[in-house]
Amino acid sequence: MSDTRHTKTLIIGSGPAGYTAGGVYAARAMLNPILVQGGMEPGGQLTTTTEVENYPSFIDIQGPPELMVKMEKHARAMGTEVIGDIITDLDLSKRPFTAKGDSGTTYTADAVILATGARAKWLGGLPSEEKFKGFGVSACATCDGFFYRGQEIVVVGGGNTAVEEALFLTNFASKVTLIHRRDELRAEKILINRLMKNEKIEPPLWDHTLEEVVGDENPLGVTGVRAKHVKTGEITEIPAKGVFIAIGHAPPANELVKDVLETHMGGYVVTKPDSTATSIPPGVFAAGDLTDHKYRQAVTSAGMGCMAALEAEAFIAEQDD
Ligand code: FAD
Ligand code: NAP
Repeated sequence: MSDTRHTKTLIIGSGPAGYTAGGVYAARAMLNPILVQGGMEPGGQLTTTTEVENYPSFIDIQGPPELMVKMEKHARAMGTEVIGDIITDLDLSKRPFTAKGDSGTTYTADAVILATGARAKWLGGLPSEEKFKGFGVSACATCDGFFYRGQEIVVVGGGNTAVEEALFLTNFASKVTLIHRRDELRAEKILINRLMKNEKIEPPLWDHTLEEVVGDENPLGVTGVRAKHVKTGEITEIPAKGVFIAIGHAPPANELVKDVLETHMGGYVVTKPDSTATSIPPGVFAAGDLTDHKYRQAVTSAGMGCMAALEAEAFIAEQDD
């Protein structure tokens, strides 16, 4: 069935940015927000991890389902209408802005908050990567590094992210080995210098790809990796408790906005300085990982969600004057 719904503020995305924008701020500002969750990953990236230890006030909380369920509950309790739909088409060229949902519903809005997040890239096509995700295989050192105190770790990748993650992981690990598919890193020189000087970093395994993550079944956990030389096919086995995939982030600005909004750093939406306002006509705000190539944390995303809602409220008040 197709119908049209109008809201003062439409929030697209149900990660920490979306729920904070919608539930905690926009609803309390009486903006009657509608929040569209997205079908693939309602609750956002934190639904792909097991424990979250760095969200203030929760010493240790399960990513799925606890933290995101609580955020959703909070949003609903404040009066946000949370809808399980996916926005497939967005017209930001005129007000009211129009968003088409996969369900057939058309949403019109005076202000739009984009909070569609980002996604770490995985190697893909590797069943053992899939099997141990959240059980030794991670794509976020800041989030999961702490769990590998005194352990050996492998990092896959050769860019700034891989080198930064490897360096960060030396704070916890006994040893970190970088596996890279070429014989040269694309990371910045200064980072490479730091990497090479760090005593906990093993000489990188050049020209190797990750062939398999190996581990125990019960309890499920990683014990090492098998890496394959790209030219000779020779296999090298490395013991490790943690495997960090650091091969970049998929462009966060997805089909919805990539040709409409200004982006930088590989697809992150540009916002005005000290603001969540985007590059196009007033009334469209972007928050969270969608705009953030640097911090990419739940708490920073929530903070930007708050900013976006406050800015949307001010924008709507101006229109109403
Ligand atoms: P996301 O959480 O990415 O949510 C985006 C939302 O947008 C999703 O709900 C998705 O369904 C929705 N969406 C996308 N497209 C559409 C569409 N077309 N229509 C409707 N909805 C759409 N951070 C920490 O602070 N601590 C941690 O311990 C931590 N652990 C992590 C572990 C892992 C494995 C990963 C991958 C990340 C981790 N992070 C952690 C990072 C954290 O998850 C992100 O910084 C945060 O989730 C970003 O929030 P966000 O609201 O911007 O977007
Ligand atoms: P990136 O620069 O695209 O590097 C990705 C790395 O992963 C490359 O070394 C690539 O190998 C490797 N890789 C990609 N796909 C792979 C696969 N399927 N299998 C094995 N290896 C694979 O990504 P990034 O490091 O995340 O950086 C993204 C952007 O953010 C860059 O602009 C970067 O400068 C920026 N950034 C900046 C900082 C900083 O300034 N401190 C920190 C982090 C990120 P190849 O080299 O062979 O292509």
